[in-house]
Amino acid sequence: MIQLKTIEEIRLMRDAAQLVSKTLGMLAKEIKPGVTTKYLDNLAYQFIKDHGAEPAFLGYGGFPNSLCMSPNEQVVHGIPNDTPLRDGDVISVDCGTYLNGFVGDHAYTFEVGEVAPETKKLLQVTKESLYKGIAQCIRGKRIGDISYAVQEHAEKHGYGVVRELVGHGVGRVMHEDPQVPNYGRKGSGKVIKDGLVIAIEPMVNLGTEKVKFHNDGWTVTTLDNKPSAHFEHDVAVVHGKPVLLSTFQYIYDALGIQSNEEEAFHFDF
Ligand code: MG
Ligand code: MG
Repeated sequence: MIQLKTIEEIRLMRDAAQLVSKTLGMLAKEIKPGVTTKYLDNLAYQFIKDHGAEPAFLGYGGFPNSLCMSPNEQVVHGIPNDTPLRDGDVISVDCGTYLNGFVGDHAYTFEVGEVAPETKKLLQVTKESLYKGIAQCIRGKRIGDISYAVQEHAEKHGYGVVRELVGHGVGRVMHEDPQVPNYGRKGSGKVIKDGLVIAIEPMVNLGTEKVKFHNDGWTVTTLDNKPSAHFEHDVAVVHGKPVLLSTFQYIYDALGIQSNEEEAFHFDF
């Protein structure tokens, strides 16, 4: 059952989502060749604790760390380790915080050093598909409208949209109803209402959409070992429209990136 949130609850959720956003912004400056994902995971753990929150992933279903760090062909749920990042890697960093009794869940795929143009393009298009989905979070539309918008944009560029892993409602726990697939039919699924809060998170592959689940119980890779990209925002429906609770602005500030992609999705409530 979908747990719609009050305005007051959505404001509390924004605090949790903003803390994840700040955590990713802090990490943006640290992600470079030679750094290990375990080191970055430690930084995130300290940062979240220092801000009076708990890392939401640590211990979730037995997950051993605060960040899911998924380089290159890893799609999501990668476990931090001692392997240094290399020039040309891309890495999805997925982070969750637990603050005010609510979860923030947010991810960005970073470039490490100089990345191949075809991979850069994959990242760009995956992020665009996220915003296409967010734009559909309008009262009276349906979850399938979000799914369709994400899929249509990614597949138009010839990419594979992962089927087995989906976005989700978010709230007092990390995964609530409804599921938000990155593929689907327009006009299908649950009706979108004020107070809906969901994590939209396209996982898009350069090659095949097919993935492999590994024996560690977590790691997911593309079947053809080509790169995968993953971006995630927490979105609430307020006054009939989508409002972003998370933001990539801290990352962009850290990396000197100019963007107005979120402009339409920030307003006071
Ligand atoms: Mg996430
Ligand atoms: Mg999520």
